[in-house]
Amino acid sequence: MINKLCIIGVGLIGGSLARALRAAKAARTIVGHSRDAAHLQRAMELGVIDRAERLLADAVRDADMVVLAVPVGAMTELLREIAPQLSQRAAVTDVGSVKGAVVAAARDALGARFPVFVPGHPIAGTEKSGVEASFVELFKGQRVVLTPEPDTDPGAVQRVTDMWRATGAEILTMTAAHHDDVLAVTSHLPHMLGYTLVDALLKLDDNKTMVALAASSFRDATRVAASDPEMWHVICLSNRVAVVEALK
Ligand code: NAP
Repeated sequence: MINKLCIIGVGLIGGSLARALRAAKAARTIVGHSRDAAHLQRAMELGVIDRAERLLADAVRDADMVVLAVPVGAMTELLREIAPQLSQRAAVTDVGSVKGAVVAAARDALGARFPVFVPGHPIAGTEKSGVEASFVELFKGQRVVLTPEPDTDPGAVQRVTDMWRATGAEILTMTAAHHDDVLAVTSHLPHMLGYTLVDALLKLDDNKTMVALAASSFRDATRVAASDPEMWHVICLSNRVAVVEALK
C-alpha cells in the first residue's frame, strides 16, 4: 500500500495510473501536480486525484512514491526541483517513452539520491492527451518495462514493480539501451511514418479529394499522427541514434 502517491503530470498516463491505483485500493492519498490550475481542477472533478497541489514542493513532501508522468523534455528540470524535497522513504519513477536520456538526466539531477529512481515505461497509451482521456483499464494486461541501473536500490524497484502490478500490468526488466533500440522500431519509427504520411498527403495538389477518400487503411496507418507532435518530436530527438538506425 502506497501511503502518499504524488503524480507529477496528471494527463493520459498519470491520470490512468491514478485511476487504476485508486480502483485497486493501492494508494491511501493521491496528490497531483501540473502547471495548469484548470487541468488540476478537472482531475479533481473527475475524482482522479484526492488533492491538487500547485506547488511542486508541497506535492512531493512526505510522498513515499513519486511518479513523473510529464513529457520527456520536462523531466530534467522537474527532477532537479524535486531532489531536495524528497522524503527519506521516497521511491521515484517515470513513465517516459525514452529511457537512456531520462536515466542520464536523473543521475545528474538527483545526485546521491539517484538509487531511489526506477526508470519505467508503460507500453500502453493512445493518441489522446490530457486527464479527460485517462481511463482505469489502460494498463490492464499490458506490459511495463523497468530499466534499473546497477546502482538502483532493489527495494525501490520492488515497490515500483508492486505499484504497476496493482494496475494489472506485467513487468519486464531490461537495460535502458535495449529498451531504446526496441522502442525505436516498435513505437518511435511508426510515429514518424504516421506524421510523414499525413504531411506528404497534405502537400499534394489534389489533397482535398485525397482526404475525402481516405478510408480505413489510411486512417489505421496514420492514427498515431493525432498524437501530440511536440511530445513526439522530443521523444524522437532524445532517441535519435536508435531512430536513425531504425529508419535505415
Ligand atoms: P499528456 O496527456 O499530455 O500529459 C502530460 C501531463 O504533464 C499533463 O497533465 C501536463 O499538464 C503535465 N505537464 C507537462 N509539462 C509539465 C511540467 N513542466 N511540469 C508539470 N507538469 C507538466 O501526456 P501523456 O501521453 O500522459 O505522456 C506523459 C508521459 O508518458 C510522456 O513522457 C510520454 O513519453 C509517456 N508515455 C506516453 C504514452 C502515450 O501513448 N501517450 C505511452 C507511454 C508513455 P499541464 O499542461 O497542466 O502542465
